[in-house]
Amino acid sequence: MEIKTLDILPEKVIIPLKQHIGAVCDPIVKKGDRVLVGQKIGQSEEYVSSAVHSSVCGEVIAIEQCANPDGNKVMSVVIQPEQSDERVEFSSSQSLSSDELADIIKDCGIVEHYGAPTHTVLRPKGKKIDIVLINATSSEWIGGKYKNPEEYAYQMMDALKLLMKTSGASKGAIVLRTDDRESIEAFDGIKVDNRRIVVAPLVGGRKLDYYYKEQGSDVVVVSQKRIYGKKILNFFTYNVTGRKVGSGCGPTDVGVAICGVKSAKALYDVVHDGKPYYETVISLEGVDGKTDHIQVKIGTLFKDIIEACGYNGNIGKIIANGVKTGVAQYTDQVPVTKGTTRITLQKPENVLIDESTHCIHCARCVDVCPVDILPSRIAVMADKGQFDECRKLHIENCIECGDCAAVCPSRIHILQFIRYAKQSIGLVYEGVPSEAVSSPKTGSACGGE
Ligand code: SF4
Ligand code: SF4
Repeated sequence: MEIKTLDILPEKVIIPLKQHIGAVCDPIVKKGDRVLVGQKIGQSEEYVSSAVHSSVCGEVIAIEQCANPDGNKVMSVVIQPEQSDERVEFSSSQSLSSDELADIIKDCGIVEHYGAPTHTVLRPKGKKIDIVLINATSSEWIGGKYKNPEEYAYQMMDALKLLMKTSGASKGAIVLRTDDRESIEAFDGIKVDNRRIVVAPLVGGRKLDYYYKEQGSDVVVVSQKRIYGKKILNFFTYNVTGRKVGSGCGPTDVGVAICGVKSAKALYDVVHDGKPYYETVISLEGVDGKTDHIQVKIGTLFKDIIEACGYNGNIGKIIANGVKTGVAQYTDQVPVTKGTTRITLQKPENVLIDESTHCIHCARCVDVCPVDILPSRIAVMADKGQFDECRKLHIENCIECGDCAAVCPSRIHILQFIRYAKQSIGLVYEGVPSEAVSSPKTGSACGGE
């Protein structure tokens, strides 16, 4: 897969001080300061947070509330770039202790694409992690630029060991997709620690434990059929490890830490190249249906990316992070953040403008829901602000697949209602959204083998 690099000098970049679940960062620069590429510009003392860095060399021209692709306004550092790639000196080492690795992950701004700071996934408070998985099922090459597939495979194996060391886990696995031949071939046959890697398909009832024993190793590479997105991690955990995750709990409750390819690559880059997390790879789906994969500096405005890719005018709608579950943008002056994976452009004639109407109680949303909850009922309760009722209806089990809204003949924005309620519940009950904190249920209620 070809990954393009965006070679532009934009008028400004906007770096949000919150690109993660948890506490917003305090700015550590001020208007008028000159900043360098990779310089830390925001940090927080709170455990659930992650530092942010400048992706360009230039002058801070404002620190203010700016539009964010999630639809909110977020306090951000606005930088006017200059034609220079002067970088901060950043020393790293390949022999860091596990505590030092955890600190460096927070300090270098590494987060999962759904916002959880990676150090909190690897070291959740009050829980013990014994398996680390790298979920490479959605897109194997999104993590960054590699010279060739073999380099990708070696970097992922190295990153897995670093993630295991950080968490204290004794076992680890990289999970590929069975139909992703390119990645399977990249891993198959490489030699790591004098052992030849054999990619094992997860077939029948066989889970990771079987392959650890069969291959005589605590680190394996496996493949399976499905793509597992950010909210389907409980199913992923069960399908790969055999550990059931109870309602309202997460993989860390059963000792499993799941990281994405992007965060694994970011950790590799920190340790080997001293490069904090200030660049990412996104997909741009144009009005002509063509998809480009582009490496961009975090903070680059959607407008600049869209123009640089040759899409000028005739755009009816811009959507961040996918048509089904993403957020339509009211402006193109929003920045790429660590959570941005895709920008979709729609022609004006393809934009759906139907208004929502009343629920006709057809139950289609109930039929398609993969986790067997009542989307229509939850949406009604969320709309009324009755969040206790939403909890009673097990809103926390929603994996945000968007299927309910997609089949609703009344075009009710069910997913948006659910997200609104989840966010409100997180704020009311936990202080921060639920992904970042311990579940209200603990111990055996959260599952097991
Ligand atoms: S988005 Fe809708 S269909 Fe998907 S899990 Fe949530 S409630 Fe069910
Ligand atoms: S699909 Fe839409 S109209 Fe049908 S029950 Fe669900 S919310 Fe109501």
